[in-house]
Amino acid sequence: MLRLTFLGTSAAQPTIHRNLTGLAVRRDRELFLVDCGEGTQRQMIRFGTGFDVGAIFFTHFHADHYLGAIGFLRTLSMQGRTTPMDVYGPRPAKRLLDVMLFTGTERLAFDVRIHEVGPGVEIRRDRCRMRAFATEHRTPSVGWALVEDERPGRFHPEKAAALGVPMGPSYGALQRGEPVTLADGRVVRPEEVVEPRRRGRAVVVTGDTRPCAGTIAAARGADVLVHDCTFGDAEAARAEETMHSTAREAARVAREAGVRELVLTHLSTRYDREWQPLVDEARAEWDGPLTVASDGMTLEVPLPDDLARAPSAG
Ligand SMILES: [Zn+2]
Ligand SMILES: [Zn+2]
Repeated sequence: MLRLTFLGTSAAQPTIHRNLTGLAVRRDRELFLVDCGEGTQRQMIRFGTGFDVGAIFFTHFHADHYLGAIGFLRTLSMQGRTTPMDVYGPRPAKRLLDVMLFTGTERLAFDVRIHEVGPGVEIRRDRCRMRAFATEHRTPSVGWALVEDERPGRFHPEKAAALGVPMGPSYGALQRGEPVTLADGRVVRPEEVVEPRRRGRAVVVTGDTRPCAGTIAAARGADVLVHDCTFGDAEAARAEETMHSTAREAARVAREAGVRELVLTHLSTRYDREWQPLVDEARAEWDGPLTVASDGMTLEVPLPDDLARAPSAG
């Protein structure tokens, strides 16, 4: 399972309909947060993501992206959490989070390990890694790419049987990529019975950014790109000035990176209930699957091979 739950999709200030930025990423047994704006914990309750967060990945330290961590970690402590929490983010993660989490408050019941990271840093998790990549914003910033490990190719027992491979340990050896010598001296090579290794899924989250080469490189061929879309064409100049992206610019990035699906988020209050212009402007550059995120929206990311087998959605 790989599921994204959009906890907050508003830029800078919350509205009745949209909270500040937060994204829950559930991958099998692991749960991550990418950014944790004020009010994120309540959104997690509301949308049922669970609180078993293994790590928080910050894109940058503008207030709308991190203030929710203070209350959330307090709640976890009151609930008796003892498992350490890993927190990753660009400068000044250490200075800022240290002050915020540990000054003038009771000690948390668990360790919070703060890791300051820059572009290129990879964090190994269960059968996947989170990779920080360079983005362009008004303050030190990174985007996060969740990249799953390759999976073994599909094994065809009927082919192995037809070649005379006896059922048992030889099957395992072939699946591990080892050739097998049969009793009559013939050698069966793994590629005769196992398909090539299959790529895992990749989900790329930019955080706040101008459209940039770092994102295009990180999102190359990704399944899902979640991109800053603070403004529309009408505020293209403001997007440049404040170092955000317009819908059109985000769509161009998606096209250049060749992603499968584009999700636009971090909307200026002006588009709170009226985001159709953003869709129309993005559509001029991108004809693939496109969604403007709303709070509570979930997105299941299928495995590429499941996708290939599924009937076309049209
Ligand atoms: Zn922001
Ligand atoms: Zn920002």
